[in-house]
Amino acid sequence: MSRDALSVVGEEIARAGRELAVKGLVKGTSGNISARIPGANMFLIKPSGARMDSLKPEELVLVDLNGNKISGARGVSAETPMHAAIYRARGDVMAVVHTHAPTATAFGIAGKAILPLQIEVFMLLPNGVPVVPFLQPGSVALAEAVQEKMASFDAVILENHGIVTVGVSVEAACCLNEMVEEAAKIQRAVMALSGGRVSRLSELKKKFKT
Ligand SMILES: [Zn+2]
Repeated sequence: MSRDALSVVGEEIARAGRELAVKGLVKGTSGNISARIPGANMFLIKPSGARMDSLKPEELVLVDLNGNKISGARGVSAETPMHAAIYRARGDVMAVVHTHAPTATAFGIAGKAILPLQIEVFMLLPNGVPVVPFLQPGSVALAEAVQEKMASFDAVILENHGIVTVGVSVEAACCLNEMVEEAAKIQRAVMALSGGRVSRLSELKKKFKT
């Protein structure tokens, strides 16, 4: 692993954190971002208690794929076990983004999955965004439940908590996070217009695949 690779990934995470804050997907110290170091079995993650709107590369913590700290002055994010579990199971995933995007989080509180109602959402998330039942943040049980769901989804809602998205880059994982929040807002609008009715997933698959 080169110093360069580490600093490139660190810069990407810090910039993405500040952008997520500007876009209102995270507030204060909430949420976290991590990214795999190419060619190494380790990833960089936001430290516990760091503010997203002023995230700096030098604050990030380097950890192995079991979530053990390798270097960094600060403590790891509480959700490090969840990030590590995703990287262990998904070799294609280069970045994980967890936010408390407000509308998507509200869907999780209401126990409702987000559906791919728009064609653009369907193309990236053809099965929508499922809800992972509530488990304590930071727990191994939550890490295992998310790992299992992420085997077949690139985005999940954590019940009464927030959302998690993955991607082949920090930018891709952040874009997906934004897309999930946008899809939640649109689904909420559709439900308001239609007395709560939305198309079923089977109907959407039929429509978009013909
Ligand atoms: Zn959280």
